[in-house]
Amino acid sequence: MSYLTTMFLGLVLISNMNPQKNTPIKKEPFGKAGDQPVEMYTLTNANAVEVKIITYGARVASLTAPDRNGKLADVVLGCETVDCYINDPYFGAIVGRYANRIGKGRFWLNGKEYTLPKNDGENTLHGGIRNFSRVVWTATEVKSSGGVALSLSYLSKDGEEGFPGTLSATVLYTLTDKNELRIDYTATTDKTTVVNLSGHSYFNLAGEGSILNHVMTINAGRFTPVDSGLIPTGELRSVKGTPMDFTTPTRIGARIDDPYEQLVLGKGYDHNWVLDGGGGKLAVAARVSEPTTGRVLEVYTAEPGIQFYTGNFLDGSIKGKGGQVYQKRFGFCLETQHFPDSPNKPSFPSTVLQPGKTYKTTTVYKFSAT
Ligand code: BGC
Repeated sequence: MSYLTTMFLGLVLISNMNPQKNTPIKKEPFGKAGDQPVEMYTLTNANAVEVKIITYGARVASLTAPDRNGKLADVVLGCETVDCYINDPYFGAIVGRYANRIGKGRFWLNGKEYTLPKNDGENTLHGGIRNFSRVVWTATEVKSSGGVALSLSYLSKDGEEGFPGTLSATVLYTLTDKNELRIDYTATTDKTTVVNLSGHSYFNLAGEGSILNHVMTINAGRFTPVDSGLIPTGELRSVKGTPMDFTTPTRIGARIDDPYEQLVLGKGYDHNWVLDGGGGKLAVAARVSEPTTGRVLEVYTAEPGIQFYTGNFLDGSIKGKGGQVYQKRFGFCLETQHFPDSPNKPSFPSTVLQPGKTYKTTTVYKFSAT
């Protein structure tokens, strides 16, 4: 073989090993939030799996996964317009600065009280009114050996929604050829603050309808019970003998309407589970399978908690993608996190971020089929 032929064959081989080269990230306009343009980016992997990310709320707007016959379906709930996302229940969003609730919309840090806007009865939910899901992020395409990647960043000013410190937040989405969506979160601050970032995708592995037949496992022996405002009481309660026990695979709908006080308060599952965890290493927190399609979702995190929410407040008022009407329990969320209301619960793992330190956390959503 001549030198040139060898070189040519070598190049062909390299380009075949890296098929993403053939599918560059697609960028297209997705309307406007006020006068700010919003873009949609489509990331595609070697298996034709696609993730669509919009810059409004750094949201996952669409995510396809193959069933047991290789058929792709969109497995997340979402909207077709920015206007729909502006008033939505956080479809696919990055929530922050503080995912989930801070009780009575206030907390103390270094002897000072901070008050936050209350947007959930007496409490603050997902970082306040103009939280990270309701702002436009700046997107940058990133070269990554791990897959096809898009980075989004947002600078939250000192005092924004009542929180101290200018927070520089970045979310890196990577779609791998193993059908994983990896989310790497980082944040830094110029003043001591609290931070807790999470992803708020509503999944439906069948692509439509109720999620009650999905089978759930959560690797957690305890959960944090809540009061009537869904604020943790501070107790870490064993799941043993309760409808909160998902340590073995269990149909989501099997016990969801049991007269167990915690399910009555949450109108279904809407709680933080205390993960058994991998000692600070990425570990499987939850596994969900959908019997009719065979689709499986595994969620990996090193966070201490995960919020399992069964879309109890969906009420059919939102017309979503393809005209789908999302009724109660048509989607579930698995939000990796520090525990809700940690800034007011000294016994919970701390969410304090100091200047000079970097907040870092990673979530992997891995799709497969059986
Ligand atoms: C919360 C729910 C809330 C939902 C908003 C979840 O993270 O736990 O209580 O209703 O977000 O859509």
